Amino acid sequence: MIQASLNRDEIQDVIIVGGGPAGSSLAYRLAKKGIKVTLFEKTKFPRVKPCGGGIDSTFFDYLPEGLDVSEFVQDWASSILLRYEGSKEQKFSMPQKVGMVERAPFDQYLLNAAKLAGVKVRENTGVDEIFVNTNGVYEIITGSITTKAQVVVGADGAYSVVARKTGMRAPRTIFVASEWDLYMPKSIIKSWKGKMLLDCSVNPVGYAWVFPKKEFLNIGFGLPFKDAKSVHQLTEKFAKKLGFDLSYGFKKRAHWIPFARRNSEAVSKGVVLIGDAAGGADPATGAGISWALRSSAMASKWIIHAIESNSLEWLKGYQDEYEKLLNEVEAAMSLRNLFVITLVLIRKIPVKFFQPILEISSGVYSYTDWKNKNPFAYKLGKLMAVLVNRKIQ
Ligand SMILES: Cc1cc2nc3c(=O)[nH]c(=O)nc-3n(C[C@H](O)[C@H](O)[C@H](O)COP(=O)(O)OP(=O)(O)OC[C@H]3O[C@@H](n4cnc5c(N)ncnc54)[C@H](O)[C@@H]3O)c2cc1C
Repeated sequence: MIQASLNRDEIQDVIIVGGGPAGSSLAYRLAKKGIKVTLFEKTKFPRVKPCGGGIDSTFFDYLPEGLDVSEFVQDWASSILLRYEGSKEQKFSMPQKVGMVERAPFDQYLLNAAKLAGVKVRENTGVDEIFVNTNGVYEIITGSITTKAQVVVGADGAYSVVARKTGMRAPRTIFVASEWDLYMPKSIIKSWKGKMLLDCSVNPVGYAWVFPKKEFLNIGFGLPFKDAKSVHQLTEKFAKKLGFDLSYGFKKRAHWIPFARRNSEAVSKGVVLIGDAAGGADPATGAGISWALRSSAMASKWIIHAIESNSLEWLKGYQDEYEKLLNEVEAAMSLRNLFVITLVLIRKIPVKFFQPILEISSGVYSYTDWKNKNPFAYKLGKLMAVLVNRKIQ
């Protein structure tokens, strides 16, 4: 019998592809439960991940027990300056402070924690192919090596190889965002301490930001994918508008932010998607770090059940929870559309549609709660998608 010829010792319980916050936090959680996990990461950490590095307070609700990231938080912002058309601006207090982290050391800490918990971490090891054999065992190909597992998790970010190679249904709305690190004089960096700027004056369909870090100012611009070509040009315009002198030196990069649409799959047999690979990020803010931890927390419960009871059926529980996450993404998109359309048409900072975003990011309530309390506004926001994403630009 084919089944009898399998050496179970050679088969990992779980293979995780990707060592960002989604993959490393899931690996940590599973290893703590005694599950055999191998994590493949195509780069060598510390690696650069284009990101603003703002962590909203809900991040701490989903951080696995036993992990402490406080030493990586370089600043805490308690107020946001929202700016529109240059001169119009308004200051908002955050119900909970936003932490400012630098992704390279922050992500490395999370990956190291997974290693210490017993995860076999293989860096510089990109996954090229995934097959499922006749026993339902997954074969993960990295270069000339094949590793076998019962469950394979795609935590491999916006361009997920796992989602593509396993044919997962993954319709996405794609945004693009730039990250520029500006190495300004210390006095200028210090003047930003405790503050964040969100700016809709350069292009109201997206927004630009200033997030202060210890050694530099992190600025960036998030936009719908169709404007990807102009993302660096707009970031430069924004930097110049603020009077930042780029001759002090800066680094620039950009990446996608994917938002899952209805009918997206997060589970197919033994394949599971989490984090950006599952399109789980907030369309109203672009935040994906806390959402990555949230989907990893959700998936971990069902993966543990599946491995402990030797039945992949349990993974369907994660798909059910993911559907609730899709409702959150949809409600967040509607709120974003209302915010953008009000700015463009009425030319006023729409507190009514901005304050809920701040409260939700602080964990006061959820996007679904907002939707349930405001069914008409929610429907209107959904209808506005066509205007916001096509006609205005
Ligand atoms: C410019 C920009 C600014 C942002 N700012 C913020 C912010 O301020 N706050 C916030 O919360 N979110 C922000 N986000 C979103 C946030 O960065 C992501 O949502 C978050 O990183 C998702 O984490 P993840 O673990 O799912 O994926 P990632 O962090 O992208 O990690 C995926 C990992 O998978 C690895 N990988 C990919 N392919 C393979 C392969 N074939 N084999 C092995 N490994 C592979 C990659 O090397 C990577 O290390 C921003 C995004 C962008 C682009």
